[in-house]
Amino acid sequence: MRMRGCFFKSKPVDEAYGKHSFQFPSLHMAPIILDGKKLSQTIREELKAEVATCMAAGHRPPHLVAILVGNNPASETYVANKVKACAHVGYKSTELRYPDSLEESFLLRKLAALNADPEVDGILVQLPLPAHISATKVIETISPEKDVDGFHPINIGRMAKNLPAPLPATPAGILEILRRYGIQTTGLHAVVVGNSNIVGSPVSILLARDNAPGRCTVTTCHIHTKDLAHHTLQADILVVATGVVGLIKPDMVKSGAVVIDVGINRIADASGKGFRLVGDVDFEGVAPLCSHITPVPGGVGPMTIASLLQNTMQLYKQHLGI
Ligand code: NAD
Repeated sequence: MRMRGCFFKSKPVDEAYGKHSFQFPSLHMAPIILDGKKLSQTIREELKAEVATCMAAGHRPPHLVAILVGNNPASETYVANKVKACAHVGYKSTELRYPDSLEESFLLRKLAALNADPEVDGILVQLPLPAHISATKVIETISPEKDVDGFHPINIGRMAKNLPAPLPATPAGILEILRRYGIQTTGLHAVVVGNSNIVGSPVSILLARDNAPGRCTVTTCHIHTKDLAHHTLQADILVVATGVVGLIKPDMVKSGAVVIDVGINRIADASGKGFRLVGDVDFEGVAPLCSHITPVPGGVGPMTIASLLQNTMQLYKQHLGI
């Protein structure tokens, strides 16, 4: 059996590391479960208090508009959760629902109207869109000042240059987990599996930036990577966002690694719902090796919504100049 080093428990990573080698102050300790659900509740309470302060100063509440095209069940759940989260923290939200047959030109005109509406702070269009609507055009039509998902090329560019910008919500949620659990990342080797525009690529950029958390040496892997395990075994921080159930197995993870599982995959089971959610990491096998690991569900997922709420607050304050 492989042994696991739990250096994070006793000291921050940077102190616990030797210059070029791991140290193993204690072995066989249980991993710290990175509880995104609890963290997201804390963030929501913070935002609720901020809304109360703004309203006490005579301002209107933040306003998020969420657009859903078609009736993809997962998208419906995501949008419903976002709208519910807005209500919880005292934001105004408007849900606009359109049928699959919606014309692209109508959606683009609607977005232009929302861009011009001074009462709207954030706009999101739930992806994926039906094939006849260009997600690129839609993303580029949302004003960068209202781009609560942080997907607009201007905001991606600003993120890459380490300038203030709304960050893509899932990557921002991952950074917030690292920050709030006090995981020191400077100088560590982060391996990101997945290079999508919404998760893998921005996570890789953010972890390499000269910020805390960040300042990592980053390797980005993807479907064309040869010998994935060779790379993942070098990870001090392993972020996995592929949508492949159980892709990361115990023999692919270094002892003491921090493992962030972004995957949300439905697998059939005998429960009333007929399915359960699992990640991209073989949690049972990998957790005993890690210093820290996110569960699925209850890890990165809730933090994505918390980040969306944080972005909305940031854009709202910019609009109102407060
Ligand atoms: P995507 O399909 O856009 O990208 C998948 C990535 O994984 C690609 O870069 C691909 O090259 C890589 N990949 C696929 N198979 C691989 C393999 N065998 N080896 C190495 N790399 C491989 O997916 P996405 O939108 O980035 O989402 C990834 C996962 O994260 C999905 O399960 C999705 O549901 C989940 N997700 C979760 C949240 C959240 O809030 N927790 C948010 C977004 C996405």
